[in-house]
Amino acid sequence: MIDFRSDTVTLPDEGMRGAMASAELGDDVYREDPTVNRLESMAADMSGHDSALFFPTGTQSNLAALLTHCERGDEYIVGQNAHTYKYEGGGAAVLGGIQPQPIEFEADGTLDLEKIRAKIKPDDFHFAKTRLLALENTVGGQVIGNDYIRRAQWLAREHGLSFHLDGARIMNAAVAQEIPWHEIAVYFDSVSICLSKGLGAPAGSVLCGPDPFIVKARRWRKVLGGGMRQAGVVASAGIYALENNIERLADDHANAACLAEGLLAIDELSIRNDAAQTNMVFASMENSAMKKLLPFMRDNGILLSAGNPMRLVTHLDISKQDIDFAIEKFKSFFQQNNSV
Ligand SMILES: *Cc1c(COP(=O)(O)O)cnc(C)c1O
Repeated sequence: MIDFRSDTVTLPDEGMRGAMASAELGDDVYREDPTVNRLESMAADMSGHDSALFFPTGTQSNLAALLTHCERGDEYIVGQNAHTYKYEGGGAAVLGGIQPQPIEFEADGTLDLEKIRAKIKPDDFHFAKTRLLALENTVGGQVIGNDYIRRAQWLAREHGLSFHLDGARIMNAAVAQEIPWHEIAVYFDSVSICLSKGLGAPAGSVLCGPDPFIVKARRWRKVLGGGMRQAGVVASAGIYALENNIERLADDHANAACLAEGLLAIDELSIRNDAAQTNMVFASMENSAMKKLLPFMRDNGILLSAGNPMRLVTHLDISKQDIDFAIEKFKSFFQQNNSV
């Protein structure tokens, strides 16, 4: 199957499985797993932060970050469609008593700084205390540039807000801009990265930040049930991913650009921005066509997400040949669909 649903679907390759099989292990709750320790110091070094902490998922890593920055009755400013607000079960509110203040994304994935400013609440007991600004990069496959991040950081500093990045795909943003990822990460007080997306590890996220922040986050990780034991088995895949799978994200971006270009030639489809910035393509079509497209493609060995616009994601288990094959199948679907 050629699976365009997400970059989470990748399976560990032989090299990664080898690293997992031979990982040195210990009990990480005692901080005695040498492989977890090595992943954490590697991620800290690479990100330009003091310390790092390994988590089973990005959801837990983001939540621990929010719980560490904010207290009950505090508020975080976040994108209306941001993962930390919309796709994490409302965890910050459910478990932390932290109120979200969502703001609509602009078309380029940024949050308008004037809209943010207007939502920052004055110190008045009627209001929740605005404590944190949380960004995401990439957002729906779009790169948030450092010029914007710098201005957002200024705004956060000016108002005494902490500044968190959900950097689930920060490496895609970095590779697309041909910069090392610490050049993005260093603007933030904390950054959560995913090893299980384009980097290809089976699971795992890392939260990076200053020492005292990570000490506090470690406590929250335990509270959230994320204190794992011989977690080096999974962390070794993360090390392998950081060593081998960052630069190759450029291939996924080239494949996504190629897919976007191929689909753009189909009259029945419209493609967001007529192009792909990183590893995602968004294609819109008539709903009636979308419903028939999914089973047709599945019969041809191609898995697509429902949704209109439809999100197609490239990753290390999709080759250039797979892209060419998928474009051909899209073309033949719309030819058939038009002739009936
Ligand atoms: C995947 C993802 C996360 C974390 O998700 P998990 O599935 O919990 O690892 C966080 N933010 C964004 C933007 C993501 O895409």
